[in-house]
Amino acid sequence: MVDLIRQYEDIKEEINASIDSILQSATFINGPKVHEFQASLEHYLGIKHVIPCANGTDALQIAMMGLNLQPGDEVITADFTFAATVEVIGLLQLTPVLVDVEEDTFNIDPDAIERAITPKTKAIVPVHLFGQCANMERIIEIAEKYKLYIIEDNAQAIGATYTFLNGEKKKAGTMSHVGSTSFFPSKNLGCYGDGGALFTNDDELAHYIRGIVNHGMYRRYYHDVIGVNSRLDSIQAAVLQAKLPHLDSYCETRRRAARFYSENFRGLDMVVVPKMVSGCEVICDSCDCHVFHQYTLRITNGRRDALAEYLKDNDIPFGIYYPVPLHRQKAYADERYKEADFPVTNRLVEEVISLPMHTELDEEQLIFISDTIRDFLT
Ligand SMILES: *Cc1c(COP(=O)(O)O)cnc(C)c1O
Repeated sequence: MVDLIRQYEDIKEEINASIDSILQSATFINGPKVHEFQASLEHYLGIKHVIPCANGTDALQIAMMGLNLQPGDEVITADFTFAATVEVIGLLQLTPVLVDVEEDTFNIDPDAIERAITPKTKAIVPVHLFGQCANMERIIEIAEKYKLYIIEDNAQAIGATYTFLNGEKKKAGTMSHVGSTSFFPSKNLGCYGDGGALFTNDDELAHYIRGIVNHGMYRRYYHDVIGVNSRLDSIQAAVLQAKLPHLDSYCETRRRAARFYSENFRGLDMVVVPKMVSGCEVICDSCDCHVFHQYTLRITNGRRDALAEYLKDNDIPFGIYYPVPLHRQKAYADERYKEADFPVTNRLVEEVISLPMHTELDEEQLIFISDTIRDFLT
């Protein structure tokens, strides 16, 4: 599904030099590289504050702590996503409220959000799934109407751009009170271990969060709030600082692979290719709305599992993201949830299949993968 070795080979000298500078200075925690990377990412995203932390799950938890969400507060998020989002809601004893998603973008459905709002609702956590943004135009409108916080889970869409109806463009993760991301190795901007970050334009919130990530300290050994220990270590920052200048070209390479796939599956009735929120029919060079963390097809003739078997037999990697909706996971099941509230998620878990997607896919591989799938389906 990913080829991190070949990606490393291409930028080996930059990475090694960057890591070497940490080894030579022994500034393993909170060293200058962390600050350098933080500033570079602030500049790239066009945001005032980036606060690095240990991983993307921590980033979500710290965001909720930073907004002072309290036990019993309801937090609305998508049923069709990775569990990290709902996990931290549970850990903080907040009440998760899972809602359905849109079938064409896989992202949280704004109408479902609005239906789920109660007097206890405090925040919405849209997940920008598979590399493109949720409907932020509507989500921001809803949040303003009901005075709710928005936390963007941007673990899968770093580098994507969202265009508002008035033409204004913003980077994924920077459109709300606070955004979070993950630098897990297979994410679009991945380090060589765990890493994460929070983004905000709010000076006061940024200050508060910088204390939370460091044991609640604003002055050394004075603990003003209960915090956590969640740091991005300098070696990971060194890797990220070397990779950030390549992020846009990595996203472009992913888009090219996606375009190749989509063009090859055109005309197959039982295959639904990913839809671009921009409305573009084909994925064009200026389609910066999608960074294809995953390239996910829907197989609508009931043969998804048979296709998966066939790919396995042909040594083609694939992923089923996600096979079980969160509302049916043992840890998160709750009698509040009714199957009838999740028609789209319940269908998607049966239909989705994600194809190999990374920065090192060459034409030969793309042809082999597409042809194999076409052969099976036609
Ligand atoms: C990867 C991911 C996370 C968690 O990030 P980690 O760095 O692995 O903790 C959270 N949310 C989504 C949507 C993710 O894809």
